Amino acid sequence: MARYRDAKCRLCRREGMKLFLKGARCFTDKCAIERRNYPPGQHGLNRGKLTAFGIQLREKQKAKRIYGVLETQFRRYFSAAEREKGITGENLLKHLERRLDNVVHRLGFAASRREGRQMVAHGHFEVNGRKVSVPSYLVRVGDVVRARSTSKMLARVDENMNAGRGQVPQWLELDPNERKGLVRSFPLREDIQIPVSEQLIVELYSK
Ligand code: SF4
Repeated sequence: MARYRDAKCRLCRREGMKLFLKGARCFTDKCAIERRNYPPGQHGLNRGKLTAFGIQLREKQKAKRIYGVLETQFRRYFSAAEREKGITGENLLKHLERRLDNVVHRLGFAASRREGRQMVAHGHFEVNGRKVSVPSYLVRVGDVVRARSTSKMLARVDENMNAGRGQVPQWLELDPNERKGLVRSFPLREDIQIPVSEQLIVELYSK
């Protein structure tokens, strides 16, 4: 178990910033970045400078890791973002943000996106009254996401909500008593506070 935890924190240390991959621990002084903010490994402090390509690649890897998405799916989001009106990079982040596992996390039901993914995959949530166990499900305006009344995770959901880490973004509306959230609108760029420069990802894929 400890090894797994370290692996997550190593990703943050490699990127040199907090990626919030471990939920509650990320908000404490046990966070590895708070303790050692330099790349892992024996030569962590002696790494050379990245090339332009390396910097672009790093941004993409960062976004993938934060949202827990593999390359094929990430590429699919990018293709969809390109076809839409507006700024491609922003469209890409908006797609990622609309994933059901992320929404469950942003509503405060799950301590991390990873936990949100597990909860959704194990069938603990419903959308508009129907069970949805696909973490990549993209929510739409007007969708109501709710913890299922029969779920064995309700105590955990309450615990996470009571911990109250992070604010619910304005595009979502939380009803804690009903353990449900309404999608009021699509997210705006300013609602997505992750340490990623999406333009660098667009440049990488445009080569
Ligand atoms: Fe680990 Fe801190 Fe990264 Fe969370 S933010 S995964 S605790 S290094």
